[in-house]
Amino acid sequence: MTSIPDKLYKYELVIGLEVHIQLATNTKIFSSDSAAFGGEPNSHVSIVSLGLPGSLPYLNSTVIDSAIKLGLATNCSINLENRFDRKNYFYADLPKGYQITQDALPICKEGFIEIKTKAFGNRQIRINRIHMEEDAGKSMHDQDLTDSLIDLNRAGVPLLELVSEPDLRSAEEAAQFISEVRKIVRFLGVSDGNMEEGSLRCDANISIRIKNTTAYGNRCEVKNVNSMRNLQRAITYEFNRQVDVVENGGSIEQQTLNFDAATGITSPLRSKELANDYRYFPEPDLLPVRLTEEYIKNIQASLPELPQQLEKRFINELGLSEYDANLLASEKEISSYFNNVIKTTSDYKAAANWILGPVRSLLNETGLSISQLSTKPSSLADLINLISTGKISFTSAVQQVFPAMQKHPDHKVIDLVTEMNLLISVDQNELDNLVDEVLNLYPDKIIEYRKGKKAVLGLFMGEFMKRSKGKADPKTANSLIVKKLEETK
Ligand code: ADP
Ligand code: MG
Repeated sequence: MTSIPDKLYKYELVIGLEVHIQLATNTKIFSSDSAAFGGEPNSHVSIVSLGLPGSLPYLNSTVIDSAIKLGLATNCSINLENRFDRKNYFYADLPKGYQITQDALPICKEGFIEIKTKAFGNRQIRINRIHMEEDAGKSMHDQDLTDSLIDLNRAGVPLLELVSEPDLRSAEEAAQFISEVRKIVRFLGVSDGNMEEGSLRCDANISIRIKNTTAYGNRCEVKNVNSMRNLQRAITYEFNRQVDVVENGGSIEQQTLNFDAATGITSPLRSKELANDYRYFPEPDLLPVRLTEEYIKNIQASLPELPQQLEKRFINELGLSEYDANLLASEKEISSYFNNVIKTTSDYKAAANWILGPVRSLLNETGLSISQLSTKPSSLADLINLISTGKISFTSAVQQVFPAMQKHPDHKVIDLVTEMNLLISVDQNELDNLVDEVLNLYPDKIIEYRKGKKAVLGLFMGEFMKRSKGKADPKTANSLIVKKLEETK
């Protein structure tokens, strides 16, 4: 008898993603209408967005630059000559009756994004193409009792569509891929990459095949999955559904499906349209886009360090752990804060620990982002240097100095530490006296120590730290106590 897990084990998932990235430009792709999210319905609309007869599109060059940036960041080649096409279909939120997109000659082609997977280590997921296009308006079916309402603010907002090859093999890998895309567009500054607000939307093409075979099965395209979690739910649901169909003797029909987040179920939306249905043809109102090698080179030179490059540098040059490096490189603001801290301290590990520890807790508590933190990176570096040169203890730094720094962002760290009387005493006499005082408390423990019971050292350390009120550096204290214990033997 075949149990369900056995059935599932027979098959492999094959997934290709089409990712729509809404660009963070000020104006729309073919007009000077605002591309801002929200606004009063139909307030960001001129004749171009309304698709009035006779209105002409005018290409926003920031969209081209954004596409090139994303293409270069994802190892694509750039088509020096590319062009726009009309994709014809009728829908109420598309007043022109066609969408301007790129079909035959997209701006970027044949790249890859690397993901880290549990099962296969680092894998390159190939990118088929990235093209530029305009978004459609929004139909709202739940705002009025009898009518559907149309908001054209979004019509003409620039999108990049990134199409992967069917190289992804699990829901986890698909989520990783999206997460990489999200990081990259945020680092490039071309989009905020916010899935919940629709700046990053994804259609998942899903099929199954028997493991260790090469032919692809028929795929289903699940539309508009709006969160990382829903993407994974939709894929898992589809896998189970398709396996059941095939195991029961059926076959998978190529279809477009809708995912219902409330039920976790996919359902048919329409049978898959063929490219032919759209009657693609070159957009006659726009010239082809012609680029030069030099133009591309300039953009290449302007690219920031990307998350995976940063991660590698943090590991290889700074000696950070993979885990810390990955976290620090996941957000642009965090990585640049870290980069600024290590401009004035060479204690990289401590800088990482501070940012991923006390700083992050503070941000969580206050809801601030790291760029809103009142503590400047250079001040955090000062604090770290005071600790690593033994001038203050880590404990007093975390518990007292760091909170004080939040309250007095304009004070110098050294002044705060001095005011709070937390500088570790460098007066050797004072320290020696304190060690004597502590050892004299427990003469019998000294004998135990000398007989080999090293654990009693903790007791002396505890007493010492209590009495020194955080002004002694634990390392120094430890070696002073050990020295005394051993020398009078
Ligand atoms: P279309 O233009 O009809 O949408 P494409 O060939 O452009 O078709 O593919 C769209 C997406 O479907 C791509 O992301 C691709 O990787 C993915 N895809 C193609 N074939 C399969 C398959 N058999 N299983 C899963 N995904 C697939
Ligand atoms: Mg498609």
